[in-house]
Amino acid sequence: MSNLGTAQNPVRAAIVGSGPSGFYAAEALLESEQTVLVDMFERLPAPFGLVRSGVAPDHPNLKKPIRGYQRIAESRRFRFLGNVTVGRDITVEELKRCYHVIIFACGAETDRKLGIPGEHLAGSHAATEFVGWYNGHPDYRDLVFDLSHETAVVIGQGNVAVDVCRILCKTTDELRHTDIAGHALAVLAQSKIRDVYMIGRRGPVQAKFAHQELKALGKLADCDALVAPHDLELNPASREELADKRNRASGKSYEVLQGFAARQAPTRHRRLHIQFLKSPKELKGEGKLERVMLARNRLEGEPLQQVARETGEVEELACGVLFRSVGYCGVAIQGVPFDDDRGVIPNQDGRIVDGQNVVAGLYVTGWIKRGPTGLIGTNRADSAATVMSLLADLPKLPAGPKTGADGLTATLQHRAVRVVNYADWQVIDAAEVRRGETAGKPREKFTRVEEMLEVLANFK
Ligand code: NAP
Repeated sequence: MSNLGTAQNPVRAAIVGSGPSGFYAAEALLESEQTVLVDMFERLPAPFGLVRSGVAPDHPNLKKPIRGYQRIAESRRFRFLGNVTVGRDITVEELKRCYHVIIFACGAETDRKLGIPGEHLAGSHAATEFVGWYNGHPDYRDLVFDLSHETAVVIGQGNVAVDVCRILCKTTDELRHTDIAGHALAVLAQSKIRDVYMIGRRGPVQAKFAHQELKALGKLADCDALVAPHDLELNPASREELADKRNRASGKSYEVLQGFAARQAPTRHRRLHIQFLKSPKELKGEGKLERVMLARNRLEGEPLQQVARETGEVEELACGVLFRSVGYCGVAIQGVPFDDDRGVIPNQDGRIVDGQNVVAGLYVTGWIKRGPTGLIGTNRADSAATVMSLLADLPKLPAGPKTGADGLTATLQHRAVRVVNYADWQVIDAAEVRRGETAGKPREKFTRVEEMLEVLANFK
Protein backbone atom coordinates (compact mmCIF):
# COMPACT_ATOMS: atom_id res chain seq x y z
CA MET A 1 0.00 0.00 0.00
CA SER A 2 1.33 3.47 -0.97
CA ASN A 3 2.33 5.78 1.88
CA LEU A 4 2.01 8.87 -0.37
CA GLY A 5 0.22 11.62 1.52
CA THR A 6 1.63 10.73 4.94
CA ALA A 7 4.00 12.82 7.06
CA GLN A 8 6.83 10.43 6.02
CA ASN A 9 6.07 10.80 2.34
CA PRO A 10 4.07 13.97 1.78
CA VAL A 11 2.47 14.75 -1.56
CA ARG A 12 4.64 17.35 -3.26
CA ALA A 13 2.35 19.67 -5.21
CA ALA A 14 3.38 22.51 -7.51
CA ILE A 15 0.83 25.18 -8.39
CA VAL A 16 1.66 27.37 -11.38
CA GLY A 17 0.05 30.79 -10.95
CA SER A 18 -0.80 32.77 -7.81
CA GLY A 19 -4.19 34.23 -8.66
CA PRO A 20 -7.47 33.23 -7.02
CA SER A 21 -7.68 29.78 -8.64
CA GLY A 22 -4.12 28.98 -7.54
CA PHE A 23 -4.74 30.05 -3.94
CA TYR A 24 -8.05 28.20 -3.76
CA ALA A 25 -6.31 25.07 -5.07
CA ALA A 26 -3.65 25.51 -2.36
CA GLU A 27 -6.36 25.92 0.26
CA ALA A 28 -8.13 22.73 -0.84
CA LEU A 29 -4.85 20.77 -0.84
CA LEU A 30 -3.78 22.06 2.56
CA GLU A 31 -7.18 21.29 4.06
CA SER A 32 -7.30 17.75 2.67
CA GLU A 33 -6.75 14.72 4.87
CA GLN A 34 -3.49 13.93 3.08
CA THR A 35 -0.22 15.55 4.05
CA VAL A 36 0.48 17.87 1.14
CA LEU A 37 3.35 20.34 0.74
CA VAL A 38 2.50 23.09 -1.71
CA ASP A 39 4.96 25.17 -3.75
CA MET A 40 3.33 28.01 -5.71
CA PHE A 41 5.21 29.38 -8.75
CA GLU A 42 4.52 32.89 -10.01
CA ARG A 43 6.29 34.71 -12.83
CA LEU A 44 6.06 38.12 -11.08
CA PRO A 45 7.60 38.87 -7.69
CA ALA A 46 4.08 39.87 -6.54
CA PRO A 47 1.32 37.31 -5.93
CA PHE A 48 -2.50 37.43 -6.32
CA GLY A 49 -2.86 37.59 -10.12
CA LEU A 50 -5.92 39.44 -11.32
CA VAL A 51 -6.96 40.45 -7.81
CA ARG A 52 -3.89 42.66 -7.83
CA SER A 53 -3.71 43.57 -11.49
CA GLY A 54 -7.23 43.04 -12.85
CA VAL A 55 -9.70 44.21 -10.19
CA ALA A 56 -10.32 47.92 -10.69
CA PRO A 57 -8.47 50.21 -8.26
CA ASP A 58 -11.74 51.88 -7.23
CA HIS A 59 -13.18 48.51 -6.15
CA PRO A 60 -11.19 47.86 -2.95
CA ASN A 61 -13.88 45.54 -1.58
CA LEU A 62 -13.24 43.09 -4.40
CA LYS A 63 -9.62 42.85 -3.22
CA LYS A 64 -10.64 41.55 0.21
CA PRO A 65 -10.07 37.89 -0.78
CA ILE A 66 -6.35 38.74 -0.56
CA ARG A 67 -6.65 38.50 3.23
CA GLY A 68 -7.68 34.86 2.85
CA TYR A 69 -4.78 34.22 0.45
CA GLN A 70 -2.38 35.74 2.99
CA ARG A 71 -3.62 33.27 5.60
CA ILE A 72 -3.05 30.37 3.18
CA ALA A 73 0.46 31.65 2.42
CA GLU A 74 1.31 31.64 6.11
CA SER A 75 0.86 27.86 6.33
CA ARG A 76 4.11 26.06 7.12
CA ARG A 77 3.26 23.63 4.33
CA PHE A 78 3.16 26.40 1.72
CA ARG A 79 6.01 28.08 -0.16
CA PHE A 80 5.83 30.94 -2.65
CA LEU A 81 8.37 31.04 -5.48
CA GLY A 82 7.86 34.40 -7.17
CA ASN A 83 9.81 35.75 -10.13
CA VAL A 84 10.02 32.25 -11.62
CA THR A 85 8.49 31.70 -15.05
CA VAL A 86 7.51 28.10 -15.68
CA GLY A 87 8.33 27.27 -19.29
CA ARG A 88 11.29 29.67 -19.28
CA ASP A 89 13.21 29.65 -15.97
CA ILE A 90 12.18 26.10 -15.25
CA THR A 91 10.63 23.58 -17.61
CA VAL A 92 7.54 21.51 -16.99
CA GLU A 93 9.74 18.38 -17.31
CA GLU A 94 11.97 19.71 -14.51
CA LEU A 95 8.91 20.34 -12.36
CA LYS A 96 7.63 16.83 -12.98
CA ARG A 97 10.86 15.40 -11.57
CA CYS A 98 10.37 17.28 -8.29
CA TYR A 99 6.62 17.00 -7.78
CA HIS A 100 4.02 14.24 -7.66
CA VAL A 101 1.37 16.59 -8.99
CA ILE A 102 1.29 19.95 -10.79
CA ILE A 103 -1.76 22.20 -10.99
CA PHE A 104 -1.77 24.85 -13.70
CA ALA A 105 -3.67 27.91 -12.49
CA CYS A 106 -2.18 30.47 -14.83
CA GLY A 107 -5.36 32.24 -15.89
CA ALA A 108 -6.08 33.80 -19.26
CA GLU A 109 -3.20 36.15 -19.91
CA THR A 110 -4.05 37.70 -23.24
CA ASP A 111 -7.05 39.16 -25.07
CA ARG A 112 -9.49 37.73 -27.58
CA LYS A 113 -9.26 39.34 -31.01
CA LEU A 114 -12.10 40.90 -33.00
CA GLY A 115 -10.64 39.73 -36.28
CA ILE A 116 -11.61 42.87 -38.25
CA PRO A 117 -9.57 45.13 -40.55
CA GLY A 118 -7.78 47.94 -38.75
CA GLU A 119 -7.82 46.16 -35.40
CA HIS A 120 -4.11 46.87 -34.97
CA LEU A 121 -4.15 50.57 -35.87
CA ALA A 122 -2.45 52.83 -33.33
CA GLY A 123 -5.14 53.93 -30.90
CA SER A 124 -6.89 50.53 -30.90
CA HIS A 125 -6.09 48.67 -27.69
CA ALA A 126 -7.10 45.52 -25.89
CA ALA A 127 -8.99 46.44 -22.73
CA THR A 128 -6.83 43.90 -20.93
CA GLU A 129 -3.76 46.05 -21.71
CA PHE A 130 -5.42 49.18 -20.38
CA VAL A 131 -6.50 47.33 -17.24
CA GLY A 132 -2.95 46.00 -16.72
CA TRP A 133 -1.55 49.49 -17.31
CA TYR A 134 -3.73 51.35 -14.80
CA ASN A 135 -3.20 48.55 -12.30
CA GLY A 136 0.59 48.79 -12.56
CA HIS A 137 1.29 45.34 -14.07
CA PRO A 138 4.94 45.38 -15.22
CA ASP A 139 4.06 43.89 -18.65
CA TYR A 140 1.92 46.92 -19.51
CA ARG A 141 3.74 49.64 -17.64
CA ASP A 142 5.28 51.26 -20.71
CA LEU A 143 2.23 51.23 -22.97
CA VAL A 144 1.07 54.60 -24.21
CA PHE A 145 -2.61 55.52 -24.27
CA ASP A 146 -3.34 58.72 -26.14
CA LEU A 147 -6.32 60.32 -24.41
CA SER A 148 -5.98 63.64 -26.22
CA HIS A 149 -9.14 63.05 -28.31
CA GLU A 150 -12.67 63.81 -27.23
CA THR A 151 -14.19 60.44 -28.10
CA ALA A 152 -13.35 56.95 -26.84
CA VAL A 153 -15.10 53.73 -27.82
CA VAL A 154 -15.29 50.56 -25.74
CA ILE A 155 -16.40 47.43 -27.61
CA GLY A 156 -18.16 44.81 -25.45
CA GLN A 157 -20.54 44.96 -22.51
CA GLY A 158 -19.05 42.72 -19.85
CA ASN A 159 -17.79 43.85 -16.46
CA VAL A 160 -14.33 44.59 -17.86
CA ALA A 161 -15.90 47.03 -20.34
CA VAL A 162 -17.72 48.68 -17.44
CA ASP A 163 -14.43 48.98 -15.50
CA VAL A 164 -12.72 50.60 -18.49
CA CYS A 165 -15.59 53.05 -19.03
CA ARG A 166 -15.68 53.98 -15.35
CA ILE A 167 -11.93 54.65 -15.21
CA LEU A 168 -12.19 56.79 -18.38
CA CYS A 169 -15.18 58.70 -17.01
CA LYS A 170 -14.11 59.32 -13.42
CA THR A 171 -12.52 62.55 -12.30
CA THR A 172 -8.97 62.57 -10.94
CA ASP A 173 -10.40 63.23 -7.49
CA GLU A 174 -12.47 60.06 -7.71
CA LEU A 175 -9.34 58.02 -8.44
CA ARG A 176 -6.63 59.84 -6.50
CA HIS A 177 -6.99 57.86 -3.27
CA THR A 178 -7.21 54.42 -4.85
CA ASP A 179 -4.25 52.12 -5.57
CA ILE A 180 -4.27 53.12 -9.25
CA ALA A 181 -0.73 53.22 -10.67
CA GLY A 182 0.79 56.71 -10.43
CA HIS A 183 1.76 56.76 -14.12
CA ALA A 184 -1.85 56.03 -15.13
CA LEU A 185 -3.32 58.66 -12.83
CA ALA A 186 -0.99 61.26 -14.34
CA VAL A 187 -2.17 60.43 -17.89
CA LEU A 188 -5.85 60.22 -16.91
CA ALA A 189 -5.58 63.61 -15.19
CA GLN A 190 -4.73 65.13 -18.60
CA SER A 191 -7.45 63.22 -20.47
CA LYS A 192 -9.46 65.28 -22.98
CA ILE A 193 -12.10 62.61 -23.40
CA ARG A 194 -15.65 63.94 -23.20
CA ASP A 195 -17.68 61.12 -24.82
CA VAL A 196 -17.27 57.43 -24.13
CA TYR A 197 -19.33 54.91 -26.12
CA MET A 198 -19.84 51.43 -24.66
CA ILE A 199 -21.11 49.33 -27.55
CA GLY A 200 -22.70 45.88 -27.40
CA ARG A 201 -23.36 43.60 -30.33
CA ARG A 202 -26.57 42.26 -28.76
CA GLY A 203 -29.41 43.95 -26.88
CA PRO A 204 -29.91 45.35 -23.38
CA VAL A 205 -31.30 42.06 -22.07
CA GLN A 206 -28.26 40.09 -23.29
CA ALA A 207 -25.56 42.44 -21.97
CA LYS A 208 -23.16 40.62 -19.63
CA PHE A 209 -22.44 43.38 -17.11
CA ALA A 210 -23.65 42.98 -13.53
CA HIS A 211 -26.48 45.33 -12.57
CA GLN A 212 -24.55 46.59 -9.54
CA GLU A 213 -21.65 47.57 -11.79
CA LEU A 214 -24.01 49.21 -14.26
CA LYS A 215 -25.75 51.13 -11.49
CA ALA A 216 -22.43 52.58 -10.33
CA LEU A 217 -22.02 54.18 -13.77
CA GLY A 218 -25.01 56.34 -12.92
CA LYS A 219 -23.30 57.73 -9.82
CA LEU A 220 -20.15 59.24 -11.26
CA ALA A 221 -19.21 62.71 -10.08
CA ASP A 222 -18.94 64.43 -13.46
CA CYS A 223 -20.35 62.07 -16.07
CA ASP A 224 -23.88 61.38 -17.32
CA ALA A 225 -24.73 57.79 -18.26
CA LEU A 226 -27.02 57.90 -21.29
CA VAL A 227 -29.19 55.38 -23.10
CA ALA A 228 -31.44 56.21 -26.05
CA PRO A 229 -35.01 55.07 -25.24
CA HIS A 230 -35.34 53.37 -28.66
CA ASP A 231 -32.37 51.17 -27.73
CA LEU A 232 -34.49 49.62 -24.98
CA GLU A 233 -37.23 48.42 -27.33
CA LEU A 234 -37.30 44.63 -27.21
CA ASN A 235 -38.18 41.93 -29.71
CA PRO A 236 -40.59 39.19 -28.51
CA ALA A 237 -37.75 36.74 -27.69
CA SER A 238 -36.01 39.37 -25.53
CA ARG A 239 -39.28 40.11 -23.73
CA GLU A 240 -39.54 36.39 -23.00
CA GLU A 241 -35.97 36.40 -21.70
CA LEU A 242 -36.76 39.31 -19.46
CA ALA A 243 -39.76 37.48 -18.00
CA ASP A 244 -37.71 34.31 -17.40
CA LYS A 245 -37.00 33.80 -13.69
CA ARG A 246 -33.54 32.38 -14.50
CA ASN A 247 -32.70 35.75 -15.96
CA ARG A 248 -33.44 37.97 -12.95
CA ALA A 249 -30.06 39.69 -13.11
CA SER A 250 -30.79 40.93 -16.65
CA GLY A 251 -34.12 42.28 -15.44
CA LYS A 252 -32.31 44.36 -12.84
CA SER A 253 -29.85 45.69 -15.42
CA TYR A 254 -32.74 46.54 -17.71
CA GLU A 255 -34.37 48.58 -14.93
CA VAL A 256 -31.11 50.49 -14.40
CA LEU A 257 -30.92 51.18 -18.14
CA GLN A 258 -34.52 52.44 -18.10
CA GLY A 259 -33.48 54.83 -15.35
CA PHE A 260 -30.60 56.12 -17.50
CA ALA A 261 -32.94 56.53 -20.50
CA ALA A 262 -35.39 58.57 -18.44
CA ARG A 263 -32.80 61.11 -17.32
CA GLN A 264 -32.88 64.77 -18.25
CA ALA A 265 -30.51 66.23 -20.84
CA PRO A 266 -26.87 65.75 -19.85
CA THR A 267 -25.26 68.55 -17.88
CA ARG A 268 -21.91 67.13 -16.84
CA HIS A 269 -18.45 67.34 -18.32
CA ARG A 270 -18.42 63.77 -19.65
CA ARG A 271 -21.03 61.56 -21.23
CA LEU A 272 -21.12 57.77 -21.27
CA HIS A 273 -23.30 56.51 -24.13
CA ILE A 274 -24.45 52.91 -23.73
CA GLN A 275 -25.50 51.55 -27.11
CA PHE A 276 -26.77 48.18 -28.30
CA LEU A 277 -27.08 46.04 -31.43
CA LYS A 278 -23.92 47.31 -33.13
CA SER A 279 -20.78 45.38 -34.11
CA PRO A 280 -17.45 46.87 -35.14
CA LYS A 281 -16.87 46.00 -38.80
CA GLU A 282 -13.70 47.93 -39.51
CA LEU A 283 -11.40 50.45 -37.84
CA LYS A 284 -10.20 53.20 -40.17
CA GLY A 285 -7.61 55.96 -40.15
CA GLU A 286 -4.42 57.19 -41.77
CA GLY A 287 -1.75 55.40 -39.75
CA LYS A 288 -3.84 55.72 -36.59
CA LEU A 289 -7.41 55.21 -35.53
CA GLU A 290 -9.81 57.92 -36.68
CA ARG A 291 -13.17 56.17 -36.90
CA VAL A 292 -14.94 52.88 -36.37
CA MET A 293 -17.45 51.47 -38.84
CA LEU A 294 -20.33 49.90 -36.93
CA ALA A 295 -22.74 47.39 -38.45
CA ARG A 296 -26.26 47.56 -37.10
CA ASN A 297 -27.55 44.21 -35.87
CA ARG A 298 -30.82 42.49 -35.16
CA LEU A 299 -31.26 39.50 -32.90
CA GLU A 300 -32.14 36.05 -34.18
CA GLY A 301 -32.81 32.78 -32.42
CA GLU A 302 -34.64 31.29 -29.48
CA PRO A 303 -34.92 33.13 -26.15
CA LEU A 304 -31.65 32.91 -24.18
CA GLN A 305 -29.83 31.82 -27.34
CA GLN A 306 -30.22 34.89 -29.51
CA VAL A 307 -27.31 35.87 -31.70
CA ALA A 308 -26.52 39.15 -33.46
CA ARG A 309 -26.99 39.29 -37.25
CA GLU A 310 -26.04 42.28 -39.38
CA THR A 311 -28.94 44.16 -40.95
CA GLY A 312 -26.78 45.60 -43.75
CA GLU A 313 -26.88 49.14 -42.29
CA VAL A 314 -23.48 50.56 -41.38
CA GLU A 315 -22.71 53.77 -39.48
CA GLU A 316 -19.50 55.60 -38.78
CA LEU A 317 -18.33 56.90 -35.42
CA ALA A 318 -15.33 59.23 -35.22
CA CYS A 319 -13.04 58.37 -32.31
CA GLY A 320 -9.41 58.68 -31.30
CA VAL A 321 -9.06 55.68 -29.05
CA LEU A 322 -10.84 52.33 -28.88
CA PHE A 323 -10.72 49.50 -26.36
CA ARG A 324 -11.61 45.96 -27.41
CA SER A 325 -13.20 44.41 -24.34
CA VAL A 326 -14.42 41.11 -25.78
CA GLY A 327 -12.87 38.70 -23.30
CA TYR A 328 -9.57 37.25 -22.16
CA CYS A 329 -7.78 34.26 -23.70
CA GLY A 330 -5.35 31.72 -22.24
CA VAL A 331 -1.74 31.32 -23.38
CA ALA A 332 -0.08 27.94 -24.01
CA ILE A 333 2.71 26.71 -21.74
CA GLN A 334 5.50 24.75 -23.35
CA GLY A 335 5.18 21.07 -22.51
CA VAL A 336 1.45 21.21 -21.65
CA PRO A 337 -1.40 20.34 -24.07
CA PHE A 338 -3.40 23.36 -25.25
CA ASP A 339 -6.69 23.94 -27.06
CA ASP A 340 -5.90 26.88 -29.36
CA ASP A 341 -9.51 27.40 -30.40
CA ARG A 342 -10.82 27.82 -26.86
CA GLY A 343 -7.63 29.21 -25.31
CA VAL A 344 -7.73 26.66 -22.48
CA ILE A 345 -5.82 23.57 -21.33
CA PRO A 346 -7.97 20.56 -22.34
CA ASN A 347 -9.10 18.58 -19.32
CA GLN A 348 -11.63 16.20 -17.85
CA ASP A 349 -12.75 17.33 -14.40
CA GLY A 350 -9.47 19.20 -14.00
CA ARG A 351 -7.29 16.28 -15.20
CA ILE A 352 -5.21 17.49 -18.15
CA VAL A 353 -5.79 15.40 -21.26
CA ASP A 354 -3.75 14.97 -24.41
CA GLY A 355 -6.28 13.88 -27.01
CA GLN A 356 -8.25 11.17 -25.23
CA ASN A 357 -5.52 10.34 -22.72
CA VAL A 358 -5.23 11.71 -19.21
CA VAL A 359 -1.71 13.01 -18.50
CA ALA A 360 -0.89 11.50 -15.11
CA GLY A 361 -0.08 14.05 -12.40
CA LEU A 362 -1.06 17.19 -14.36
CA TYR A 363 -4.12 19.23 -13.40
CA VAL A 364 -5.68 22.56 -14.27
CA THR A 365 -8.00 25.07 -12.62
CA GLY A 366 -9.50 28.55 -13.07
CA TRP A 367 -9.77 30.50 -16.32
CA ILE A 368 -7.16 28.34 -18.07
CA LYS A 369 -9.42 25.35 -17.30
CA ARG A 370 -12.91 26.66 -18.00
CA GLY A 371 -12.37 29.88 -19.98
CA PRO A 372 -12.52 33.50 -18.79
CA THR A 373 -15.87 33.57 -17.02
CA GLY A 374 -17.12 33.98 -13.49
CA LEU A 375 -16.24 36.07 -10.48
CA ILE A 376 -13.31 35.64 -8.08
CA GLY A 377 -15.31 33.31 -5.84
CA THR A 378 -16.27 31.06 -8.79
CA ASN A 379 -12.69 29.80 -8.70
CA ARG A 380 -13.07 28.38 -5.21
CA ALA A 381 -15.52 25.67 -6.25
CA ASP A 382 -13.62 25.14 -9.49
CA SER A 383 -10.33 24.57 -7.67
CA ALA A 384 -11.99 22.36 -5.05
CA ALA A 385 -13.32 20.18 -7.91
CA THR A 386 -9.86 19.89 -9.49
CA VAL A 387 -8.29 19.01 -6.14
CA MET A 388 -10.98 16.37 -5.61
CA SER A 389 -9.94 14.71 -8.89
CA LEU A 390 -6.29 14.96 -7.86
CA LEU A 391 -6.85 13.38 -4.44
CA ALA A 392 -8.87 10.56 -6.01
CA ASP A 393 -5.93 9.84 -8.34
CA LEU A 394 -3.24 9.70 -5.63
CA PRO A 395 -3.36 5.90 -5.13
CA LYS A 396 -2.60 5.48 -8.87
CA LEU A 397 0.39 7.85 -8.95
CA PRO A 398 4.04 6.77 -8.53
CA ALA A 399 4.58 7.10 -4.79
CA GLY A 400 8.37 7.54 -4.65
CA PRO A 401 9.47 10.54 -2.55
CA LYS A 402 9.96 13.85 -4.36
CA THR A 403 12.07 16.85 -3.42
CA GLY A 404 9.72 19.75 -4.18
CA ALA A 405 11.44 23.10 -4.74
CA ASP A 406 14.59 22.00 -2.91
CA GLY A 407 15.43 19.96 -5.98
CA LEU A 408 15.24 23.09 -8.14
CA THR A 409 17.38 25.42 -6.05
CA ALA A 410 20.67 24.65 -7.80
CA THR A 411 19.11 24.89 -11.27
CA LEU A 412 17.47 28.24 -10.51
CA GLN A 413 20.69 29.58 -9.00
CA HIS A 414 22.65 28.41 -12.03
CA ARG A 415 20.15 30.27 -14.25
CA ALA A 416 20.56 33.41 -12.11
CA VAL A 417 16.90 33.49 -11.13
CA ARG A 418 16.28 35.58 -8.00
CA VAL A 419 13.48 33.60 -6.38
CA VAL A 420 11.15 35.86 -4.38
CA ASN A 421 9.75 33.97 -1.41
CA TYR A 422 6.73 35.00 0.63
CA ALA A 423 8.78 36.86 3.25
CA ASP A 424 10.42 38.79 0.39
CA TRP A 425 7.00 39.64 -1.00
CA GLN A 426 5.97 40.93 2.43
CA VAL A 427 8.94 43.32 2.31
CA ILE A 428 7.86 44.58 -1.13
CA ASP A 429 4.26 44.81 0.05
CA ALA A 430 5.19 46.92 3.08
CA ALA A 431 7.33 49.20 0.88
CA GLU A 432 4.38 49.75 -1.50
CA VAL A 433 2.10 50.62 1.40
CA ARG A 434 4.66 53.12 2.76
CA ARG A 435 5.00 54.72 -0.69
CA GLY A 436 1.23 55.16 -0.83
CA GLU A 437 0.94 56.83 2.56
CA THR A 438 2.18 60.28 1.50
CA ALA A 439 -0.31 60.37 -1.41
CA GLY A 440 -3.20 59.09 0.74
CA LYS A 441 -3.34 55.86 -1.28
CA PRO A 442 -3.63 52.31 0.10
CA ARG A 443 -0.38 51.59 -1.75
CA GLU A 444 1.76 52.88 -4.59
CA LYS A 445 2.64 49.76 -6.55
CA PHE A 446 6.05 49.06 -7.95
CA THR A 447 5.46 48.68 -11.64
CA ARG A 448 8.78 47.19 -12.68
CA VAL A 449 10.23 43.85 -11.63
CA GLU A 450 13.67 45.49 -11.20
CA GLU A 451 12.19 48.00 -8.75
CA MET A 452 10.78 45.18 -6.65
CA LEU A 453 14.08 43.31 -6.66
CA GLU A 454 15.89 46.52 -5.73
CA VAL A 455 13.70 46.87 -2.64
CA LEU A 456 14.88 43.41 -1.61
CA ALA A 457 18.51 44.17 -2.41
CA ASN A 458 18.35 47.28 -0.19
CA PHE A 459 16.45 45.61 2.64
CA LYS A 460 18.48 45.24 5.80
P1 NAP B 1 -17.51 38.89 -20.71
O1 NAP B 1 -18.35 39.05 -19.50
O2 NAP B 1 -17.52 37.56 -21.37
O3 NAP B 1 -17.97 40.02 -21.77
C1 NAP B 1 -17.46 40.03 -23.06
C2 NAP B 1 -18.27 41.00 -23.89
O4 NAP B 1 -17.67 41.04 -25.20
C3 NAP B 1 -19.72 40.61 -24.11
O5 NAP B 1 -20.51 41.78 -24.15
C4 NAP B 1 -19.69 39.94 -25.49
O6 NAP B 1 -20.91 39.96 -26.17
C5 NAP B 1 -18.68 40.83 -26.18
N1 NAP B 1 -18.10 40.23 -27.37
C6 NAP B 1 -17.44 39.05 -27.49
N2 NAP B 1 -17.02 38.86 -28.76
C7 NAP B 1 -17.40 39.96 -29.45
C8 NAP B 1 -17.27 40.37 -30.79
N3 NAP B 1 -16.64 39.60 -31.67
N4 NAP B 1 -17.79 41.56 -31.15
C9 NAP B 1 -18.44 42.33 -30.26
N5 NAP B 1 -18.61 42.00 -28.98
C10 NAP B 1 -18.09 40.83 -28.57
O7 NAP B 1 -15.96 39.19 -20.43
P2 NAP B 1 -15.21 40.29 -19.57
O8 NAP B 1 -15.94 41.56 -19.48
O9 NAP B 1 -13.83 40.26 -20.11
O10 NAP B 1 -15.18 39.66 -18.10
C11 NAP B 1 -14.54 38.40 -17.83
C12 NAP B 1 -15.06 37.85 -16.51
O11 NAP B 1 -14.56 38.64 -15.42
C13 NAP B 1 -16.58 37.88 -16.41
O12 NAP B 1 -17.02 36.74 -15.76
C14 NAP B 1 -16.82 39.12 -15.55
O13 NAP B 1 -18.04 39.08 -14.84
C15 NAP B 1 -15.62 39.08 -14.61
N6 NAP B 1 -15.35 40.43 -14.08
C16 NAP B 1 -16.02 40.82 -12.97
C17 NAP B 1 -15.85 42.09 -12.47
C18 NAP B 1 -16.61 42.52 -11.25
O14 NAP B 1 -17.19 41.70 -10.57
N7 NAP B 1 -16.63 43.79 -10.92
C19 NAP B 1 -15.01 43.00 -13.11
C20 NAP B 1 -14.33 42.59 -14.26
C21 NAP B 1 -14.53 41.30 -14.75
P3 NAP B 1 -21.86 38.65 -26.25
O15 NAP B 1 -22.59 38.60 -24.96
O16 NAP B 1 -22.73 38.91 -27.41
O17 NAP B 1 -20.94 37.46 -26.45
